[in-house]
Amino acid sequence: MNTSCLRCNSSTESIEHVFRDCQFTQYVWQGLGVTWPTNINSVSFFEWLSWLFKHQLLHSKELITYTLWAIWTSRNKHMHEGKNQSVQSLITYIRGCVSEYKNCLQKQGCCQIQMEVRWSPPPEGYTKLNFDACCIPATRRAFSGFILRNTQGDVLGSGTKEQEGFVSVLLSEANALKDGIKHALHLGFENLIIESDSRALIEKLESKHDDASEIRTAIADIKSLVRSLPTVASSSLQDLETKRLT
Ligand SMILES: [Zn+2]
Repeated sequence: MNTSCLRCNSSTESIEHVFRDCQFTQYVWQGLGVTWPTNINSVSFFEWLSWLFKHQLLHSKELITYTLWAIWTSRNKHMHEGKNQSVQSLITYIRGCVSEYKNCLQKQGCCQIQMEVRWSPPPEGYTKLNFDACCIPATRRAFSGFILRNTQGDVLGSGTKEQEGFVSVLLSEANALKDGIKHALHLGFENLIIESDSRALIEKLESKHDDASEIRTAIADIKSLVRSLPTVASSSLQDLETKRLT
């Protein structure tokens, strides 16, 4: 089995290499203005991360967290889909996410933190699909992402992408869900629980009527995907209610 780094092919792909030492990763951190002294390069991943959280006073913890997440999902994209993201696109994506996250916090208090605390694992034998999207009016860009987790909370799959054009949050969310279901099917996970804080989207999926809104094509696609699954349930993080779809 090839254990070299997919990006640089020059080193064994350790956790330290992926997140800190790979040249690609270093360019991303440098581009975001996150630096550390050279002696920190030889410590373990967790010591390095602790150092970052403790000493990066100028940088938010959100930036570090989003960067780690983006590096990991970009690496998976490279590995599973053969898609290469450039350093600059990753930096733009991370900055966009952090800015959107901060805007949300300002508007809605600490809703994001509560949501994370409220994540509960799916029952044994089920996979939970969470998805989300963000739109950045200033740069007219929209992004979406999904994550698949099992009863133990292990991440089974994930994906992020930039939408084509500046589309609405609802359509970005619908696209994220569609990508997530397709990815789950591709990995053979058919007992799915779909969970999101997008009540509007969940309601559209649960509705027995044909959708007439701007996202009707996406809704129809999702409903058709869902019909091929033996088990699927939906739930909204806001009411913590789970219903069978179809
Ligand atoms: Zn590398």
